[in-house]
Amino acid sequence: MATEETYDVVIIGAGHNGTTTAAYLAKCGLSVCVLEERPESGGAQETVEPLAGVRIQPHAIANYGGSAPGWEQLELWKYGFRMDWDPNATVELDTDRYIFTRDGLSRVTDQDKMGWAKIACMLAGEDAFRDLMRATFWCPPHPPDVELNENNIPFMQVYKQHQPDVWTRELLEMTMFDLMDEYLETEPFKVSQAYIALSSGAHGHMEGVAIPALCSAATVMPPAVAKPVAARGNMHGYFHALIRAAIAHGAVFRTCCPVEEIIISNGRAAGVRLRDDATWAAKTIWARKAVISAAHIKPTFLDMIGPRHLDAGFLQRIKDLSLKGGSLYMSHYLTRDEFRYRDKYRLPPPKDAFTGAFFNMESREIYFKNVENVLGRQENLTLAPDEAMWGMVASSLYDPTNPQCTRPDRHINGPLWMMVPTPQYNVDGMTAMDKADEKKKWDEFMRASLACIVENLDDDNLIRIISDSPLEQEMRNTGMLGGSWYGIRCDRDQWWNERPLPELARYRVPGIDGLYLAHQSAAHPGGLCLMAVGYNLMHILIEDEVADPGDWWYASPWYIPEEGKRPANAA
Ligand SMILES: Cc1cc2nc3c(=O)[nH]c(=O)nc-3n(C[C@H](O)[C@H](O)[C@H](O)COP(=O)(O)OP(=O)(O)OC[C@H]3O[C@@H](n4cnc5c(N)ncnc54)[C@H](O)[C@@H]3O)c2cc1C
Repeated sequence: MATEETYDVVIIGAGHNGTTTAAYLAKCGLSVCVLEERPESGGAQETVEPLAGVRIQPHAIANYGGSAPGWEQLELWKYGFRMDWDPNATVELDTDRYIFTRDGLSRVTDQDKMGWAKIACMLAGEDAFRDLMRATFWCPPHPPDVELNENNIPFMQVYKQHQPDVWTRELLEMTMFDLMDEYLETEPFKVSQAYIALSSGAHGHMEGVAIPALCSAATVMPPAVAKPVAARGNMHGYFHALIRAAIAHGAVFRTCCPVEEIIISNGRAAGVRLRDDATWAAKTIWARKAVISAAHIKPTFLDMIGPRHLDAGFLQRIKDLSLKGGSLYMSHYLTRDEFRYRDKYRLPPPKDAFTGAFFNMESREIYFKNVENVLGRQENLTLAPDEAMWGMVASSLYDPTNPQCTRPDRHINGPLWMMVPTPQYNVDGMTAMDKADEKKKWDEFMRASLACIVENLDDDNLIRIISDSPLEQEMRNTGMLGGSWYGIRCDRDQWWNERPLPELARYRVPGIDGLYLAHQSAAHPGGLCLMAVGYNLMHILIEDEVADPGDWWYASPWYIPEEGKRPANAA
């Protein structure tokens, strides 16, 4: 039996980021082996079928990748990706839109829409919006010796070029609320956008991340994507296309193969050692050019590399990285009849079908009450059900040719997601949300909150609530740590050149050659901006002469090469 193997590149973790990186590198002609601990690849991008004919999304749901260069560079359509999106069709931005508050529907005004379009650079010509998204997420952090300022931060350059009247140095200090207060009109619309940012990436109320917060909301909406839940087969369908692209270019995936150790020899990552119970006989896998950890940053350094190779002070800083980004409680509702809105929430025709909602977006007071519970006091929610904020997609938003529920006379709606404290930091302990009867209490709490707008959630109609708490999500996906859905805290000191620690921001590990980071917790910009980590990391791997792409490759226009290295935009 084989006991050793050698590849150009070994990647730990077949989640979204490990797989994107594998697809890019295999397309460069490198031999790539991806090792995955679970029996299945995909990480937190999965769809499961708890009852025959009833599919749910325990984690990822929305397509945050509309502006990714990866669509062109990896050509996912060739590998089965299908989306309800015609690049030549005009996206209707001027239809009536409504926000859900306790009093009923709040109409989004023309000033809201025009103000939003302006700050998102949509009024500045065809490419400006896409440039803003790409400058914010699909661009690697600048080299550490480049002093960041208002002229060289990529999104600032986009404003200066395309929307100079929005550009001000203060954009770098503002919260998203500050920015919206200047350009938008109604409070519910502003609160809804800040909430989408809060549950997507940079938080709407954090100082200094106004633009990343704005863009993390914008990248999941038109015109970036036609509708948030648009991929056929949802996010797992998207993942299938990604893994097929990687395999078609020759990458090898091995599941049930947990990596126990990254082998470091003479200051260089030389390969990995699998755990003894890995199902692959070759327990040592050597890497000629690079080892890339696409597993969580903490186990990468604390367990797989370990103190033997690292400075104690550095390890302590890894231990201290905050995971307080917040977690999401996810639930789906299986019913006999379709949901019916209460009278005050019925959308005027033609949009009278239930397509989902963001509730309760009434005021900043409510927003901060939720934030205070989740991120401040870190305790199970102490709010009344009508004060809880959540978002929900309804079955009608999924691709009609690939419905979530195929059982006759049954309907599944969801997920409904609500931010809750990260279990690791819950003042009442890790399992505060999962103890006996607590789970049922949260299901009932969310049902009561949803019943504020849906009138037929009675026992006669509701067959079952299928929910997963953050701890249950962590059990499903070993890539998550402490039940935090975003990995790390989402404020200024963990963004871009600071993420996750300044010396690691360019995906390299100083002091260990040939070792790179690609997990959402370890890399700018994380997970939601699809294909961003793989694309950004490519710049660094080209600089280090690990990868040599063909003419399909183009670098970010805002990328700054590292002195003395081969520039990625000359490849
Ligand atoms: C509730 C929830 C909702 C979300 N909603 C969305 C959404 O709407 N849209 C969106 O785009 N994203 C969403 N996300 C986030 C998205 O799922 C993640 O950002 C993305 O999955 C991160 O990819 P990753 O590859 O960095 O990490 P992961 O998906 O965590 O993958 C890491 C992989 O590494 C494997 N691994 C770990 N340790 C080892 C080891 N020692 N050896 C081998 N393998 C190992 C794990 O099993 C896992 O498969 C959501 C996440 C959650 C939890």
